[in-house]
Parts: sequence; structure tokens; C-alpha cells
Amino acid sequence: MIYRPRRVSCRECRGVYVEYLPQAAGKQRIIIAYACFLETLARRLPWIPVTNLFQCSWATVCSAVRHVADHGLQRKNLSNLSVIGIDEISRQLDHQLLTNGYDLNSGTLI
Ligand SMILES: [Zn+2]
Repeated sequence: MIYRPRRVSCRECRGVYVEYLPQAAGKQRIIIAYACFLETLARRLPWIPVTNLFQCSWATVCSAVRHVADHGLQRKNLSNLSVIGIDEISRQLDHQLLTNGYDLNSGTLI
């Protein structure tokens, strides 16, 4: 479904306003529910099959994953963090390292 938000010109202040869409996030071209759905699938499947399955671009899947990750990071509460652990994982043969931080009290990745 394609929907273009309506624009309204105010006669009093001469401003142009765009319709507020509660189901959309900012200038995202996809709604939040669809972004969450794509992100959930992209977490379990390689991204290319997800793009083929839903006839969307790799950039759309990337945007959905980024949106959900940003949303989670903005709401992450680290105020009770007191003991951390750092671990480095070698991802590829050319010694690219992925650094992970853990909350050792709760055993979660931060
Ligand atoms: Zn106005």
C-alpha cells in the first residue's frame, strides 16, 4: 500500500504542515509494524531471502533493522549497570574483532 501524507496550508500563519501518521516513524517509508516484522525475520534469516520473500530492497531491510536497533538503544536503561565484562570475538580470518560488552549481574549483552 502506498500512502502519501496530506499537506495542509494554514491561512493564519501561512505555514505548510504534513499530516501526522502515528503508525510511521519520522521520514521512514515503511510503518513501524512492518519494520518490526522485517527486523524479526532478518534476525533469523539471511537478508537476501527476506528481500526476495517480501519483494523489497536490501536497503528497506537495512532501514528496518536500523530503526528497531535505534529504538532499542534509545530505551536501554544502563542505570543499574555495575559489573561489566568485555569479550572480543574474531569474526573473519583477517582478524576483524567484534567487541561485546556484558552486564555480568544479569548476564545480558549491552
Ligand atoms: Zn497556522
